[in-house]
Parts: sequence; C-alpha cells; structure tokens
Amino acid sequence: MGNKTALITGITGQDGAYLSKLLLGKGYRVVGSMRRTSGIGTWRLQDLQVLDDIEFASMELTEDSNVRAVLEKIKPDEIYNLAAQSFVGDSFTQPIYTTQVTGIGALRLLEGVRTVVPSAKFYQASTSEMFGKVQQVPQTEATPFYPRSPYGIAKLFAHWTVVNYREAYGLQCCSGILFNHESPLRSAEFLPRKVTLGLAKYALRGEGPLRVGNLEAKRDWGHARDYVDAMWRMLQTVPLMDFVVATGRTHSVRDFIEMAASACGISIDWQGTGSNERAIDRANGNVVVSIDPAFYRPSEVELLVGDPSLAREVLDWRPTVRLEDLVAEMVEADMKRVSSNHASGF
Ligand code: NDP
Repeated sequence: MGNKTALITGITGQDGAYLSKLLLGKGYRVVGSMRRTSGIGTWRLQDLQVLDDIEFASMELTEDSNVRAVLEKIKPDEIYNLAAQSFVGDSFTQPIYTTQVTGIGALRLLEGVRTVVPSAKFYQASTSEMFGKVQQVPQTEATPFYPRSPYGIAKLFAHWTVVNYREAYGLQCCSGILFNHESPLRSAEFLPRKVTLGLAKYALRGEGPLRVGNLEAKRDWGHARDYVDAMWRMLQTVPLMDFVVATGRTHSVRDFIEMAASACGISIDWQGTGSNERAIDRANGNVVVSIDPAFYRPSEVELLVGDPSLAREVLDWRPTVRLEDLVAEMVEADMKRVSSNHASGF
C-alpha cells in the first residue's frame, strides 16, 4: 500500500471517523479537513482512538481559495468528500446554505482537483435521498432520481458533477450512492440515534416521551463501518464507477423503534392513530413515544431499499451487520452514555 495520502473532508462526522480508522489501518497518511468550529466534534475520532494519528487542515467548503490551498499543500492521492450539511430536516429551513456546502462545495473541490491535483482519485458521498419519490423498488444504479428535499437536490447536483468531470475531463472520480448507515457514532439529531438515545434515557431515567415524525417511512439501514469499506473499495477499482451501497432490506421507523425498545428492555403497545398515535409502556402505562407533526417533512421519502448487486459483484462488498445487531450495538452504547452521564453533547 505504501504511504498514500488520503484527504477526508468531513472527518469529524460519523463516516469520517470510521473511514480514518480503516485507512490508518491500511497504512495511509490521513489528513482530515476541519472547520475552525469543528473542535467539539472530535469526540468520534477520540472514541475510535485515531485522533492522534490524523493530520488536520483547516478547510471551509464554501471558500474557493481555501479549498485550493489545502489541495496544493496536501497533494492527496485519494480524496473522500464526506463534508456536507447532511441533515435533511435542516435543508428545508436552510436550502441555500445546504446547496452551497453540499452541492457547490463538491463542485469547488472537483474544480480544485481538476486544476491542482488532476491525478488524485475522488470519492463523492452521494445518497439514496436522491431517489426520493419511489420510481422503482429496489433502487439500483439505473433507477431514475427524484429528490424530495433541498439536501437530495444538492447531492444530485454533486452527483452529476462527478459524472460530468469523469466524462469531460477524464478525472478519476466516482460516487457511492449510500443508503442510510448508522452506528453509535451517529449524531443524535438523526432519527435512529435519536431513538436509541431517547429510549435509553427513558429506560434509565424515566425521561420522555420521545417525539418522532412519520412512523411509516421505510429505510434500508446498514452499519457505517461496512459502508466506509465500500468507499475505499470503490477508489481501488478500475475504471472508477458509481455504486449503490445498501443491505437490500428495508424497515419502517416503527420497526426501528420496536427493536430499540426491546433492546432497552421496554415492552410497548401502540395506541391511537395518525398524529395521536403513541407507544405505551406495558409495564406502567407511561407514554414512551409520541408523534410530533413538527418532525414531518414537507415532502416525505416513503420507501428506500437498495440493490447492492453491482457492489457485490465488482467490489466483492457485502454488508456484515444485521439491523437487529446494529440497533443492539447503538442501544448498548447509549445506555452506557446515559448511565455515566455522557449523553449530553452527543
Ligand atoms: P455527518 O453529518 O456526521 O458529517 C458531516 C461532516 O461535514 C462533518 O464533519 C461537518 O463538520 C462537515 N461539514 C459540514 N459543513 C461543512 C462546511 N461548510 N465545510 C466543511 N465541512 C463541513 O455526516 P455522515 O458522516 O453521516 O455522512 C458523511 C457523508 O455521507 C455526508 O456527506 C452525508 O450527506 C453522506 N451520506 C450519509 C448517509 C448516512 O446515512 N450517514 C447516507 C448517504 C450519504 P463539522 O464537524 O465542522 O460540522
């Protein structure tokens, strides 16, 4: 493997942490780009015990000159563009900022690659949210896109920019269309982690109820550790192409809550309908989960399930963690955090 240099944007995020660990294990020099404000976000890198092995470069994806200067200084062999305003909910209230970072940010970086380090390989973090409104089940690399949020639209812009830079300039760039992936390192504003942390707080401290939006939305959830391995495999493939990365199984938010409650040792019954529906603790009648329409999306993505056949055939990649085990791992980590009072700030 030698001493390849990888530049990871968004290194303080969930995937940045797992990818750093993977690449350091393979002997890479890992440089992570951080914003000045990212300091509090290094807890994931500390958790995986990689913080001291990473070099950092200050980079704000909305600044052209800053992006170019980092590429000139680091001269990476591989670039993983994981940085994004990645929360779908916020993209409805901050659509322009989301587009600047998540869409134009990728273009800025690609322009930098084209002009500064044209032989570098480039990975773009595309998303199943680009499929949005169901056109085909399961979704493959050939499924038409129909994004339903400013986040999905910004990611689709970045996705097509990658295709165009590959075709127009011969850059070695590709996108992974990754379906939802979670872990104990997921931010707590994302629904799966919000559920495991919220239910751990209920189980251990009686706090609640947990407020959620659409119980029927279905997602294809895998483990982030598996998914960063797919990213690396994609950049080792010749020629570079785009892949769907998914488990091929889908579950509703309701299923996820039931699994997490069970992992917390709570038996729940659902009562009511629509926005009055709630999950009741069978042991004492307490409301554990309630519906808050504030969490409904203005335009919902109802069903995501990916077909990872191409990744299996070409990358020899397979998901290794079942959702039940992923949920159990997340609940165990959150129970520990809550019982040791470390839940806040995550
Ligand atoms: P996170 O939200 O955990 O991490 C996002 C990262 O982007 C953070 O490090 C954040 O830094 C950085 N960032 C945000 N804005 C900027 C900016 N203006 N300039 C520079 N850096 C910025 O995301 P994940 O790790 O979960 O996901 C990684 C990527 O994969 C994202 O692009 C996401 O959209 C995409 N994706 C994720 C999926 C998932 O299920 N997790 C599914 C499909 C795609 P800071 O610490 O400073 O805020």
